[in-house]
Amino acid sequence: VVAGDQSQPVDCLVLGGGPGGYVAAVRAAQCGRSVTLVEGDRLGGVCLNEGCIPGKALMEVAGLRSRVAGMAAAGLGGAAPPVDLTAFQAWKRSLVARLAGEIEELLHGSGVRVVRGWARFAGRTRVGVRTGEESTQYFDFKDVVIATGSRPAPLPSLPFDGDRVCDPGQALDWTDLPTSMVVFGGDPVGLELASAFTLLGSDVALVDPGDRLIPAMDADLSRAAAEAARQAGVRLLLRSRPRGMDGATVVIDTPDGELRLPAARIVVSAGRLPRLDDLDLAAARIRPPVDRFEVDDRLRVERHVFAVGDVTAGPQLAHRASAQGRVAGEVLGGRASAMDAVVVPEVVFAQPPLASAGLTAEGARAGGLEVAVAHVPFGVLGRGLISGAERGWARVVYELDTGRLLGAHVAGGAAGELIAAAVVAIEMGATLEDLALIVQAHPTFAEAISGAAEAGLGRPLHTVSGGSRATL
Ligand SMILES: Cc1cc2nc3c(=O)[nH]c(=O)nc-3n(C[C@H](O)[C@H](O)[C@H](O)COP(=O)(O)OP(=O)(O)OC[C@H]3O[C@@H](n4cnc5c(N)ncnc54)[C@H](O)[C@@H]3O)c2cc1C
Repeated sequence: VVAGDQSQPVDCLVLGGGPGGYVAAVRAAQCGRSVTLVEGDRLGGVCLNEGCIPGKALMEVAGLRSRVAGMAAAGLGGAAPPVDLTAFQAWKRSLVARLAGEIEELLHGSGVRVVRGWARFAGRTRVGVRTGEESTQYFDFKDVVIATGSRPAPLPSLPFDGDRVCDPGQALDWTDLPTSMVVFGGDPVGLELASAFTLLGSDVALVDPGDRLIPAMDADLSRAAAEAARQAGVRLLLRSRPRGMDGATVVIDTPDGELRLPAARIVVSAGRLPRLDDLDLAAARIRPPVDRFEVDDRLRVERHVFAVGDVTAGPQLAHRASAQGRVAGEVLGGRASAMDAVVVPEVVFAQPPLASAGLTAEGARAGGLEVAVAHVPFGVLGRGLISGAERGWARVVYELDTGRLLGAHVAGGAAGELIAAAVVAIEMGATLEDLALIVQAHPTFAEAISGAAEAGLGRPLHTVSGGSRATL
């Protein structure tokens, strides 16, 4: 049935049910708006179905396997358990289904109407949703939120075929372990995949055109990541680019000349493109962005058009998408909300995990701030030794004059959890004195944050050598 010009008036229309869109929809409904959400594929978006959750599930298994294998001295087995990726996939699907059910229930319980189908603008305030092969439903909206997310960017020399050349989401669906694998892209996603498959037993090469892995993070985190990857057995090829496939190998241009790597499977993690091209923005007279939408702090593109998540400029992270969704929902509900997060943390769930929040020392100095750095190696912490994280560390960056915390960077241990303490401290404007006065439980990694503060104040209790006002 083609509904033609028959169209239903709706209040708020949200396009996309990922972490940006579903949060915007729920919050707008909680604030009293009547909300319709359109999703063409699966609720939860990339994050739940092919990104954060499946990726971290794989890393959990890979990390546990390698940890068990390394515990012989502590009296535990000593052999790495065998890997069954078919069983892993069933376990992963059960986790994803459970979380998808929670989202569905949340939307339903909040009174959000969910329409299944692919949306496309069909007029200034009109969207058509393809609900079936030959049926389109039209909606006239008062406000619209574009939360259609992103898709993997291809590499011209290695086009995706969904089998041998995969995007990261497809790699997380594999039911057998590749004997050899080449990952293109030293971004967090590429690094996580290289790390996980190496620990599971594949022979992995990680190739990146840049000088270092995860270049957006603290330079010492990049070094820690590279060192750990090499030690785990990843063949790391920086300043290198793919030329194409040749039979069972992939051909790489490296600074030392051409190299052929065996590659049963190839993963391309070369960034993500906003999913805007299918929306026909012109039909709604919305000017398409050159790359991604530049939104104001209320997430507006135009008066009645909002955008959140991966379609907006900035780090493509699920928690940023959800934070934007929350604010957009509140603005739609007439609240005086705005995006004013001081920091958006980033975690790389590789082995070791890495985490970062706020300024690096380099970045702060480039911005004209006078800063210093205090550092605690995990090797001096009871928890660091027990957890096999003695090579890890935590570091705080603070303003020299005031002692105000500006950034925190963690390599190893429970980096992803530990960074939360720093995020709270930075958001609340804490100084080194504040951090040093806080009592943290023992033995935990959290002791590193107060320990770094004490070291920065010139009275270290964990280590004599670490944590001076050393510059990086
Ligand atoms: C392998 C991998 C691992 C990742 N790990 C992490 C991590 O650990 N932490 C983290 O913070 N981030 C991670 N990310 C990034 C994170 O997944 C994204 O930043 C996040 O999903 C963006 O949310 P979003 O709501 O903007 O878009 P998406 O999650 O992409 O959701 C958009 C939704 O819109 C739907 N849609 C698109 N077009 C239309 C249309 N025309 N009509 C109807 N529906 C439409 C799509 O089907 C999709 O469900 C990872 C990404 C990948 C690929």
